[in-house]
Amino acid sequence: MQPQQVKAISTAIKQRQTKEAKLYMFVTHLECSLTGQHYAANQLHNLSEAGKPLLVKYDLAQAGKHLTKERLRTRAGNLWRYREVLPVVHAANIVTLGEGGTPLLPARQLGARMGLSQLFIKDESVNPTGAFKARGLALAVSMAKELGIKKVAIPSAGNAAGAMAAYAARAGLEAYVFMPRDTPAANRYECEVLGAKVTLIDGLITDCGAEVARRKEAEGWFDVSTLKEPYRIEGKKTMGYELAEQFAWTLPDVILYPTGGGTGLIGMWKAFDEMEAMGWIGSARPRMYTVQATGCAPIVRAFHNGWNEAPEFENAHTVASGLRVPRAVGDFIMLDILRKSGGGAEAVTDEEMIEAAKEIGALEGVFCAPEGSACLPVLRRLQARGEVGPDDKVVIFNTGAGVKYLEAFGLKTLN
Ligand SMILES: *Cc1c(COP(=O)(O)O)cnc(C)c1O
Repeated sequence: MQPQQVKAISTAIKQRQTKEAKLYMFVTHLECSLTGQHYAANQLHNLSEAGKPLLVKYDLAQAGKHLTKERLRTRAGNLWRYREVLPVVHAANIVTLGEGGTPLLPARQLGARMGLSQLFIKDESVNPTGAFKARGLALAVSMAKELGIKKVAIPSAGNAAGAMAAYAARAGLEAYVFMPRDTPAANRYECEVLGAKVTLIDGLITDCGAEVARRKEAEGWFDVSTLKEPYRIEGKKTMGYELAEQFAWTLPDVILYPTGGGTGLIGMWKAFDEMEAMGWIGSARPRMYTVQATGCAPIVRAFHNGWNEAPEFENAHTVASGLRVPRAVGDFIMLDILRKSGGGAEAVTDEEMIEAAKEIGALEGVFCAPEGSACLPVLRRLQARGEVGPDDKVVIFNTGAGVKYLEAFGLKTLN
């Protein structure tokens, strides 16, 4: 073959590869969730200038032309099936452990006991690392890789750290984890086994966050704290796409969601709006309920007091480590969603969570994290008040695997 021919062929291959690799270019910009100020895509960002979360915006008309319901039928059952509405540009940067595509389980026996004809459990515990945090961190780490990051850091009271450690390992990034000393042992060992550098802090997740913030510049870490980078929401929003797809492109009447930082709540709401913009669903929305622990209920308190922001919750404590978030930077977005949707916010005790986990476990075969089981007592309360009727289509989110919380279920010795 002539050198020119070789060159022509290799150019053609390269062009084809570039075309194939760059399938997902529908992001237009990022936007401040408070002020609407625009930021460029494909650059590193944490919070906006106003100190608020950034939201990723897409050309949904174009994305919707490419991502058709028909095309979805042939795609694998993980969250990357919605890749046109995800921010990764180059397919080679996708870091995956098979996250998403979790089952929507009809809870027939529990429903019958409660007098609910359409009760479902969205079981996020089957995600990699045993919690829905995998969705968010898969996106955050993939984007970190795409944007040239070498080291990622996270303050976490539990599952987020394990997920970050797993995806960072797979992406070849260094992972730095800061955890409260009383974090469940499973989360800590998981991070260590997955190769992260773990520092235990005598304090809360907010203290861990302060430590990351203090050191990140000097250490060259990229901070992937909840909502402090724009992409975890994008991963979590796929729960909203999945729900709609699993309900044949309709939405349930009621969603109960264990809320810490609120990425899932904010993400799902964003997904609903995106799907409406693509013409996949109408304007009806589920009533969204935030579920928190009585020992750490900043959103519940703010909701019931009519506040638009949720000040720090003092002396936060609960075995549901995912709910131990005393101050959430996305508070104003969550409170707006809860009110707009006609939903609400309720808190339950740790004892109620453990009891509820046993009830769900024995009736439905799902070993819920205390965060997930917390939805059950709240649902009963909503029924008693007439806010949920017998034929409402209700989804409770089991956000994590109970087996990671053995101390909460009575194990004394592990440490
Ligand atoms: C982090 C976490 C939550 C809270 O999720 P947010 O999206 O931050 O509100 C709930 N449950 C479990 C098991 C978690 O790990």
